Amino acid sequence: MVGPSPGSSFAIVHATALTMAPRAARADGKATVGEDDLGILGDATIVVRDGIIADVVHGHASPAPQPGLDTYDVRGAVVMPGLVDAHTHALFAGDRVADFESLARAEKPRLGIAYTVAQTRELALPSLEVIGRRRLGPMRAHGTTTVEVKTGYALTADGEALLLEALAALDGAPDLPHVVATFCGAHALPPEFASYDAFVDELIARILPRVAATNIARFADAFCERGYFTPEQSHRFLAACAARGMQLRIHADELSASGGAKLAAALHCVSADHLNFIDADDIAALRESGTIAVLCPATAQYLELPRLAPARALIDAGVPVAFATDFNPGTCPCYSLQEVVHIARRRMRVSAPEAIAGVTTIAARSLDAFGVAGCIVPGRPADLILLETNDYREFGYYFGVNLVAWTASGKKAQHVA
Ligand SMILES: [Zn+2]
Repeated sequence: MVGPSPGSSFAIVHATALTMAPRAARADGKATVGEDDLGILGDATIVVRDGIIADVVHGHASPAPQPGLDTYDVRGAVVMPGLVDAHTHALFAGDRVADFESLARAEKPRLGIAYTVAQTRELALPSLEVIGRRRLGPMRAHGTTTVEVKTGYALTADGEALLLEALAALDGAPDLPHVVATFCGAHALPPEFASYDAFVDELIARILPRVAATNIARFADAFCERGYFTPEQSHRFLAACAARGMQLRIHADELSASGGAKLAAALHCVSADHLNFIDADDIAALRESGTIAVLCPATAQYLELPRLAPARALIDAGVPVAFATDFNPGTCPCYSLQEVVHIARRRMRVSAPEAIAGVTTIAARSLDAFGVAGCIVPGRPADLILLETNDYREFGYYFGVNLVAWTASGKKAQHVA
């Protein structure tokens, strides 16, 4: 099925629509999500004018077909908001297939982030854009219309700025997802530095000012983990980024209990990501600080970690939970949020409504993108996808299957299937 053209005017009729309108209307960001929050409308008509949702009605209230509008009869299909992937490292050169094969042989990977940094540093802007397009295109084909992408594979002032310029160019492409850029300077220790402390000094003194001057990165992120950046080093870097006006995210307690979640709470980070090894005190601290948990269970599965993040306990405690791919070459080469939702529902005791909110409204809120993505409401951009199913509960039931027939958004639309 061919979808609507970019920014066009059209009508979708006879849809089962998941508007997420009740969820969107709640300003409190309450963590629990039930079927009532999905705003399910049977036999819905969605009218879009110039890429903006003009009307959403259902049943007998459906308006008559409007002359001049392309009309899409989608009976038997579900229309829902475009998916929001709130944690990826999608802009890098090369691959880490050798590391995958090491993992598959139960051996320690040898290449690591340093290899990807070396590969990525080789590329000029046009090549970065080509590579980014190769990654973001398949994400969109799987329903992602907004994606957070982190830097952190150059780790020099000019290199990180170049990655951000590539992300800005990709954000402008009409056939790719909306890109939200994050400066992930505290990602790894580059080979020319002997100590993490010395590199944090360099980040703050030289790399951050160059990055801030591009005015592209809205967020900053640190890899707070045993053997990488300590909570103290992460704190120093993130506080300097906050002083430049960036909002904060953090890789927290992914591979071990490292103090990342407590730091996220202390710094009032917008999001604390991964959280595989957090405890009850960490959960309470995140709830107090209003931090959103962005969980990446496909990574935990890829690495065969002994535990997944306690999604159920987080939600029950009142922490809003989003789900992300963590797409990256070394620990999660997965483009599909549908796959991630499958893991969340099958292995983390998360319901279908909770998982759907976690890849739409809650994820959008974590990216400050709630005004443009995450719900189907009049006055908002038409950022939506069509699923080839008439039962929303099949989202995340199938795995290894792409249910997305097409994606559309206010400024862009693309035929997928
Ligand atoms: Zn990550």
